[in-house]
Amino acid sequence: ANETPQDLQEARRQLPVYMVRNRLLEEIKKHDTMIVIGETGSGKTTQIPQLIHEQRLEGAGAIAVTQPRRVAAITIALRVAAEMNTEIGSIVGYSVRFEDVTSPRTKVKYMTDGMLLREAILDPLLKKYSVVVLDEAHERTVSTDVLFGIVKLAQKERNEKKLNPLKVIVMSATMDVDSFKKYFNNCPVIYLEGRTYPVTIYHSKMKQEDYQYAAVCTIFQLHATTPANHDFLVFLTGQEEIETVMYNIKQIAKEATGPPIRVCPLYAGLPPAKQLQVWRDAPPGTRKIILATNIAEASVTIPRIQCVIDTGVVKERTWSGGTGAERLAVRATSQAAGWQRAGRAGRTQAGAAYRLYTADEFRARPMHQTPEILRCPLASTMLLLIAAGVEPSNFPLIDSPPPDSVKASLSLLKELGAVDSEVNPKLTVIGKKMSTFPIEPKYSKVLLCAPEYNCLDEALSIIAVLSSENIFHTPMHKREEAIKMKQKFLSPLGDHITLLNVFKAFCKAPLKKQWCKENYLNHKNLTYACEVRQQLLAICLKLNMTVTSCGQAYDQYNPQYLSVYCADCLRTALGSGARAQAGAAAGRRGGGARAAGRYVTAAGAAAALHPASALQALRPPPAALLYTELLVTGRTYMLTASAIQPHWLHQVAPDYARRCRANR
Ligand code: ADP
Ligand code: MG
Repeated sequence: ANETPQDLQEARRQLPVYMVRNRLLEEIKKHDTMIVIGETGSGKTTQIPQLIHEQRLEGAGAIAVTQPRRVAAITIALRVAAEMNTEIGSIVGYSVRFEDVTSPRTKVKYMTDGMLLREAILDPLLKKYSVVVLDEAHERTVSTDVLFGIVKLAQKERNEKKLNPLKVIVMSATMDVDSFKKYFNNCPVIYLEGRTYPVTIYHSKMKQEDYQYAAVCTIFQLHATTPANHDFLVFLTGQEEIETVMYNIKQIAKEATGPPIRVCPLYAGLPPAKQLQVWRDAPPGTRKIILATNIAEASVTIPRIQCVIDTGVVKERTWSGGTGAERLAVRATSQAAGWQRAGRAGRTQAGAAYRLYTADEFRARPMHQTPEILRCPLASTMLLLIAAGVEPSNFPLIDSPPPDSVKASLSLLKELGAVDSEVNPKLTVIGKKMSTFPIEPKYSKVLLCAPEYNCLDEALSIIAVLSSENIFHTPMHKREEAIKMKQKFLSPLGDHITLLNVFKAFCKAPLKKQWCKENYLNHKNLTYACEVRQQLLAICLKLNMTVTSCGQAYDQYNPQYLSVYCADCLRTALGSGARAQAGAAAGRRGGGARAAGRYVTAAGAAAALHPASALQALRPPPAALLYTELLVTGRTYMLTASAIQPHWLHQVAPDYARRCRANR
C-alpha cells in the first residue's frame, strides 16, 4: 500500500533470499532440478522468479510459478508486478481458474497448480516454459503431486528430443526433504537462512471443549496485558467462523479495558481490497487483530505479528471412496503446521504463540498432514492424466493413492461415459469434450447432455453456481433473518432450481451489491459464478453446442423471483451427471423414514437431507431425489438435492430401485 518504487526495492534488499542471490543463481544455472527450503517470508515466492528473470535465465521461454491457492497466486503476482514497477498482465501475470491475466509478453506467470496441470493436457512437455517453480510443495495438493510427475517426464523427454531443457525448482517452508530428494534423483537442496526471532510457546493447561470460545477468551486476556503495538494473529477455520469471532470481539471490545482494536479478517472469499487491509498498519495505540484461515500459515506473510493464537484446527476436505461422500471436516493440524503457525510470531521480533491445546495433545498429533492424493476424489485428475496421454498405472507419484480410490474414480469415469474401459482406459469422444471443461466431470457431463433436453441455458447457470463457493451468506448472529430472506427463492422442486432462481434474480438486479446485502447473498461469490458461466459458455460455443432454454417467465406469481422451467428436462440433464455418482439417487426407507427425511444412497450409505435444503419445506419429503453433493459433518447430508419421480430411479439405477422397494 502506497509504497514508492524505492521503498519496494529497499524492502527486497532486506530479504534473506537477497543475501544469497548469487549462489542461488549459480546453482540454478548448474542444475536442472533443485529444492529450495526457507522459512516463510524469506522471499522465495516473490524474489526467486524475479532474480531468474533479471538474469534472463529463462531464455526464450517463460517462468511458471505454481501456488496451491488461488488467492495466493493473485496477491503475489500483484505484489511482484508492483516491485517490478510494471502493470499486471504484462511481464508479470497470473492465471487461475476462470481468470487469465497474462499476455504473450508474460515472462513470470503465477498460477494455481490446477491451471498448470490443465495446460499440461494440451502440452505435456510444457514447451512454453523453460523454468517451472513448484511452490508450497509441502502442502502436497493432488495437483502439485501430479505436476511433480509431469515435470519429471517432460524433463526427460525434452532431453531425449534435444529440445530446450526444463528447469524445475521445488520450494517449500517445511518439508519432508528426504522423500522429495529421492523422488528427484538426489537433486541438490538449498537451505535459506531465515532471520527469525525466538518464539515462546504456551500450551493450554487443560483440554479445551470449544476452541472458538477459548480463542475469544485468550484474545481478551492478552489484550488486557500486552502493549497496544503488539499485533495478534488468530488461526480459525473458515469465513463464517471468522465472522462470528469478529462479531464477538466487537461486542466485547465495547466493554473491555485495553487499547482500541482493529479486527482484520483474512480468508479466500474476501474481496482483494479488504485482504490488503491486513498489510496496513493500525493507527498508533490501536491493536490489530488478524483473524485468518490457514492461508496465513505459509502462503502469505503478514509482518509485525507478536502474538499467535493457534486453535490447532483446520478445515479439510476428505473423501470416502466407498460412499462417494465428501467430508468437509474440522481436523487437528499436524505438528509441522503447529511449528509453522508459531513461527509467524517471530518474523520481526521475539514473539509468543498460544496453543489452545495441551502439550500432550500436540505430541499425539502426526508429524505431517496426510497428502491430499491419499484422501481426495481423483476423477478429475484421472481424466486429465488420461487426456494428457498418460497411463495412470505407470505414472511416477511420490505417494500412490489407495487402490480403492483409483478404482472408484475410474468406474465413475466409465459410468459417465468419459472412458471406454476401467482397465487401460482411453478417452471417448464425450470424455475428450469433458476434459476441456475446468470443472468436475460429473458437472461437465451435465452440460454436455443439456442441449438434448433444451436446457443448456439453465444448466450453465446451475453448474456455474455449483462450481463456485456458497452463494448464501448466513451470519451466525442474523441467521433467522437470512433464512427468512431466502424463502422467496425456494423452489418446491429443490435446490438446483432454487440456486437458478437466485442466480437469475442476481443477474437482473440493478444495484447488485445492495441487493445481495438485503437478501443475505454473497456478492463476491455470485459475481464469480457469473464469470464462471461466461467461461463455460465460451467452451460450449467452441464445441458447437446449442444454447437453448426450457424456461419461461411465470408472470402471475411473484414474477420477480420465480420462473418456471421444464423441470423434467432440467432434472434429466442433472441426472446424467448425478446418476453415476457412487450414491446418485436416494430412495425412501419406509414411510416413517421418509417423513423424517432419512434416505439411503445408491451406494448404500444412510444420508439425510441437509437442513438448508429447499426440500425441507416439502411435507412429506420427496420419495426419491437426486443430489449433486454429499457432505459429511458428523452426519451424512445430501447438500444440493432435487425431487424426482420414483420411476426415474428404475430407469437409471434399476438394481438400486429394486433394493429400495424390497426395503419398504
Ligand atoms: P516466502 O515465499 O519465502 O514465504 P514471500 O516471497 O512470499 O516469502 O514474501 C517476502 C516478503 O514480501 C514478506 O516479508 C512479505 O511481508 C512481503 N510481501 C509479500 N506480499 C506482500 C503484499 N501483498 N504486500 C506487502 N508485502 C508483501
Ligand atoms: Mg512463499
